[in-house]
Amino acid sequence: MTKTVSLCPNTKYTMFTSSIQKFLNKNHYPCFSPKAVFFDMDGVLFDSMKSHTNAWVQAMLDMNIPFTHHEAYMNEGRTGQSTIDGAFNRTFGRDATEEEKQQIYSLKSKYFEGYDAPERIPFVLELLNTIKKQELIIFVVTGSGQASLIEGLEQSFPNIFQKEKMITAFDVQNGKPSPEPYLKALKKSGLQPWEIIVVENAPLGIESAKAAGLFTLGVNTGILEKEVLVKSGADIVFDSMEQVFEKWNELVS
Ligand code: MG
Repeated sequence: MTKTVSLCPNTKYTMFTSSIQKFLNKNHYPCFSPKAVFFDMDGVLFDSMKSHTNAWVQAMLDMNIPFTHHEAYMNEGRTGQSTIDGAFNRTFGRDATEEEKQQIYSLKSKYFEGYDAPERIPFVLELLNTIKKQELIIFVVTGSGQASLIEGLEQSFPNIFQKEKMITAFDVQNGKPSPEPYLKALKKSGLQPWEIIVVENAPLGIESAKAAGLFTLGVNTGILEKEVLVKSGADIVFDSMEQVFEKWNELVS
């Protein structure tokens, strides 16, 4: 049987070759040749999801809206407004008013800021340094509008990120799972979709990146079943960032 080989010249065969070929065939892309890596922020760069979910649950509780940690994880990546509308529709059968949205989101932010600053996800700094040495372009693509985290990037990851290579909640109309955040990053990068690797932890983040036609690594850093990330469409799912770091040279070398 003849196999369609659509890897770029000089690409070596690795444990990921079949995932890459599947991705190329499905999207009708000529070849896979990574030039940039798009990183989600929460749960990928920062171990911040515990604080986010606690803050969401507490803020919703204050407004008498039932909301679980699992639900917060499943909603990760949506804009705050969209998460609040979802909870309102389920509880009251309507969208939240602008005032209610502001009230809940500021409660959520207040609780979040009250917790200890989140640590880096273990091994992500090592991974970023490897990627920097490989001279790949690094973007942050986050649904977050949490100023403290966005500003904290430089402190936690010195000389890795640049302001003009970031897409945050402030840059988009539609948050994840819409492809808009990743399409905006793609446009800003000036690259082709087969030149990008996305690193995501959240189901909706993976859906967003896949809808933008990008090769997506799902990294399970939270409380969800690994299967959830597979079902969201991730091209490869990893159990930890340490595993991504260890296997990175199989993807890009
Ligand atoms: Mg995330």
